[in-house]
Amino acid sequence: MPRTIAFGYSNHCNIRCRHCVAADAIYENSTMDLSRAREIIAEMAEARVQGVSFTAGEPLIYLDDIAELINLCQGFGIYTRVVTNSFWGKTAESADRYVEKLKNVGLSQLRLSFSRWHQENVPLTSVLNVTKSCQKNGLNYFVSFVTDFSQNDDVYEQYLRRHNLKFFPEPIIFAGRAKDFARTPIHTDYQANCCPMNPYLAPNLDMYACCDAGSHFSNTNFFHLGNINDSSIDELFTRSETNRLYSHIRNMGISTLASFAGFKTREIVGYRKCELCEKLFNSKDLLATLESQQDSGLNTWYR
Ligand code: SF4
Ligand code: SF4
Repeated sequence: MPRTIAFGYSNHCNIRCRHCVAADAIYENSTMDLSRAREIIAEMAEARVQGVSFTAGEPLIYLDDIAELINLCQGFGIYTRVVTNSFWGKTAESADRYVEKLKNVGLSQLRLSFSRWHQENVPLTSVLNVTKSCQKNGLNYFVSFVTDFSQNDDVYEQYLRRHNLKFFPEPIIFAGRAKDFARTPIHTDYQANCCPMNPYLAPNLDMYACCDAGSHFSNTNFFHLGNINDSSIDELFTRSETNRLYSHIRNMGISTLASFAGFKTREIVGYRKCELCEKLFNSKDLLATLESQQDSGLNTWYR
């Protein structure tokens, strides 16, 4: 499995989306020291990390720092992505200025966050300016269309289609500021819900096995791998790769784990993936039960 990581240089953001999953985390309002971040990139290269995605708050508030780190990654042959809210695309000129700089330092791809919540703060035209500039400058991009699958989002999806933008829907995660959002009921097919689990390095140098809701499992801290001031990056990746329950999440999937743990089938199909994951792994009792079975019962729970 190639080693990739979500790199949280800082969790500062210049806007305040109502659905932000990065908000209210325990590591709020911190930024890495730039020289330490340089060392970390070098350590990641040594640990054979092949892809770094700069994320957390809004990385491009720190354009010069992030550009330097991207360039460092390029020197090590590491694929890079920046996740941004496109605040910097207000005009075609400002979009070009950023895109040209990112392209020159070797950025591989831009991921543009887009949703009815982001767009309360950033005009639609900013996202459009950035995509046009990417096309003009030959920088790979895609739009990450965060949605709760309600009709409210139709107009946003139509905008993306009307402008022929490359986009992929991403389900909203009900964590952080969105944790109390009303959930529309969902009834899916009985899906495996296997999860590749991309690790996440937070600005306070804590590393987690999951870059999405996983750093919010505060009852059990199930996905916390350690802090890179205490362990090497290679050790923390190895921890993630060898944990038996994480392997079951990747290969067996959350639905089968929930069924094994005694959840009713008709309840399983009503959960979103990360919610079901939270039910299973943010409960000390359930976690203890699953851990006791990780090398025995769960190993034989295959078709
Ligand atoms: S969702 Fe992204 S852009 Fe919005 S407040 Fe959170 S970090 Fe900032
Ligand atoms: S299902 Fe679990 S491991 Fe996968 S992204 Fe959601 S919280 Fe993380």
